[in-house]
Amino acid sequence: MFVLVVNAGSSSLKYQLFDMDTKEVMAKGLCERIGIDGKLKHQTSGNPMIIKDIPMPTHAQAVSALVESLTDKEIGCISDMSEISAVGHRVVHGGPWLTKSVLVNESVIADLEKCCDIAPLHTVPHLLGIRGCIQIMPKTPQVLVIDTAFHQTMPEYAYMYPIPYEIYEKHKIRRYGFHGTSHRYVSEKATELLGKAPEDTKIVTCHLGNGSSVAAINGGKVVDTSMGFTPLEGLIMGSRCGAVDPAIIPFLMEKEGISVSEIIVWLNRKCGFLGVSEVSSDLREVMDAIDKGNKKAKLAYDILCYQIKKYVGAYAAAMNGLDCVVFTAGIGENNHFIRYDSLSNMDYLGIKIDKDKNEHKNACEISTDNSAVKVFVIPTNEELVIATDTEEIVSKL
Ligand code: ADP
Repeated sequence: MFVLVVNAGSSSLKYQLFDMDTKEVMAKGLCERIGIDGKLKHQTSGNPMIIKDIPMPTHAQAVSALVESLTDKEIGCISDMSEISAVGHRVVHGGPWLTKSVLVNESVIADLEKCCDIAPLHTVPHLLGIRGCIQIMPKTPQVLVIDTAFHQTMPEYAYMYPIPYEIYEKHKIRRYGFHGTSHRYVSEKATELLGKAPEDTKIVTCHLGNGSSVAAINGGKVVDTSMGFTPLEGLIMGSRCGAVDPAIIPFLMEKEGISVSEIIVWLNRKCGFLGVSEVSSDLREVMDAIDKGNKKAKLAYDILCYQIKKYVGAYAAAMNGLDCVVFTAGIGENNHFIRYDSLSNMDYLGIKIDKDKNEHKNACEISTDNSAVKVFVIPTNEELVIATDTEEIVSKL
């Protein structure tokens, strides 16, 4: 079975075509500048990337362009669109309505439309991508795989904010958690590496990328996570602030004379590594600045390490134990300094990092042999989870 995985943003649409027999990616690409002019970057396995200017006034036209590339005699890998058995869509926020991977139908679309209210930035483009696929591939089943779904097992006391209950009910304001597909994938891999049954594991997963989140997974089920109602809460991120005292927001709006929309931009785009270091939202550039003696860059780095340490400690307490910590995503997979500095001096919890193993490029287990808590680096693969869930749902039809 061939499954197309689609991740639609406001002006871009990423895609990968999977052969589910081999779990290999046959082709992947990116439609960019949708609604502006249109650019397609397309690559079939083992071949160089092809970049083409193709008009893409709408998401449907972007889908049409990618299908043409996939079926093209020279740059494609299938002969006809009907060879695509299903499309799996990445959905960032399912709200309280969409709590697991699901086949698209009218009522599912209606539920996703409700999410526009609580997560408009992601949901509106997702709907454009889904409708674009339905328009171009009307006979192909479409499945939603939802980032908030894996976190649905959190107990009420972990997801409830201490706000008036009626406001929670009215506006559905609660902790949802994000990066669930990634936390799920790496925690399942970690369970295999631990050689234990899922119900016997206590795992903390650290997804550290431009956006970052930590999750506590007890017995295979999420019991807490650092992101909240939106992907703004929790750790310091590239340009997002993470958790701050909420009183800072009205204070700043008043002092700086800025509006709600301006403060949203400020919290999402001007804070985090970028705001503290005044260098960049990209940690590589922050690290280069640290090498040159930049103190603000070092401060941004130290904040991240300290926060990871606090979350690991807190989640070990929440689970009454810890079998392993997993690092994943751009920073977690590539930055050994962060891994070492965030988990050093935690031997009271039984965490001992092996410095040499940690610095090895393709390291997997980076804890010492006598570390009571294992520490793993596991590359995430959200697209494969989306393709696998899609295959599972569609093969039951
Ligand atoms: P996103 O959340 O957008 O998917 P990524 O998971 O790619 O982002 O993470 C981006 C972050 O990872 C950046 O801060 C970048 O500095 C860091 N990163 C990505 N690749 C590397 C690498 N090879 N070496 C060091 N840092 C990296």
